[in-house]
Amino acid sequence: KQAPPKTANLKAGIPGLRHIVAVASGKGGVGKSTMAVNLALALKANGLRVAVLDADVYGPSLPKLLGIMGKPKAADMEGKLMQPMEAYGLKVMSMGFLVPEDTPMIWRGPMVMSALMQMLRDVTWGEIDIMIVDMPPGTGDAQLTLAQQTPLSGAVIVSTPQDLALLDARKGLNMFRKVSVPVLGIIENMSYFICTKCGERHEIFGHGGARAEAQRLGVPFLGEVPLDMEVRARSDAGEPIVATLPDGPHAAIFRNIAREV
Ligand code: ADP
Repeated sequence: KQAPPKTANLKAGIPGLRHIVAVASGKGGVGKSTMAVNLALALKANGLRVAVLDADVYGPSLPKLLGIMGKPKAADMEGKLMQPMEAYGLKVMSMGFLVPEDTPMIWRGPMVMSALMQMLRDVTWGEIDIMIVDMPPGTGDAQLTLAQQTPLSGAVIVSTPQDLALLDARKGLNMFRKVSVPVLGIIENMSYFICTKCGERHEIFGHGGARAEAQRLGVPFLGEVPLDMEVRARSDAGEPIVATLPDGPHAAIFRNIAREV
């Protein structure tokens, strides 16, 4: 039987981790993980020591997004502590490193929490200025528990401009407010598309929704990230755009967002 997660001491903080910031979305597929990784890289580019934790234990995507293979090494003789993986100067931990890719996760809530707490507590993170937590999508119990039991400094919400995604993002925002975690702002992903042939800007999912919503809800609007083939292709290849195209327009957008967070 799994022991209940030791959480009381975690809420008070984890030695070495100065700030933990959750990246969340009301629903899946809005680019939360892509934003989490590129935001982390942009924070690093701005001079901070950064870690990323994949809390999406049911569908871990960080190993693929960062092109990391292999397994974390033990950090002590008893094998209780693990060393984080590293990629592009980020320290990284994900359930994806610990279980084979095609293993379905059929865990219940308490086991998920316990795995997450272990990834926070039993990894030799070292001195980290900011840890980005890629949250599971949605606003269910797992997310609420996570928000409650992790010492979060704040949360960033990712949404597309679409009404539905915005509605879900609002739920996410309310969830963090309920547990008194400050919402640092909203990132609008897939904001617009610049046609590579004609240069025209197309607003595929509408425009301005997230900015207006942020204003209405009284939280900062952090920025707009375009829908772009280059973003997708580099993510799929495990070569995130902020790290591999640092002089490009996307990296600049993310560095600006990182300055706002
Ligand atoms: P989530 O974590 O919300 O489920 P992902 O980050 O996994 O979403 O993104 C879903 C898919 O959309 C991925 O294939 C990703 O590469 C792609 N994607 C995300 N943001 C963009 C973007 N701005 N432009 C192009 N493709 C994107």
